[in-house]
Amino acid sequence: MTVVLAFEGLLACPTCRGALRRGDASLVCAGCCATYEVRHRVPRLRTAADARTERVREFYSVSPFPGYRSRDTLATLRWRASRSEFARALDRANRG
Ligand SMILES: [Zn+2]
Repeated sequence: MTVVLAFEGLLACPTCRGALRRGDASLVCAGCCATYEVRHRVPRLRTAADARTERVREFYSVSPFPGYRSRDTLATLRWRASRSEFARALDRANRG
């Protein structure tokens, strides 16, 4: 399946700034031939980082907000934050 993105002409290769052309479920750089995966119509234009950063990226790709349920409400999140002394100190500091 060829990827079709409405904003495709606005994208550039993050490595060499070359134009990106459509490939099979990916975008391919016309300059350096790098391939960028497209998942759910979102191009993944991140470049590789050091091993530690990649481990952190992988962790958050699986658990974007560890310890939080996906259906927490704003009120629930505020209540949870109010239990943290650090969050209360930030709140006091932000009030002025
Ligand atoms: Zn490139």
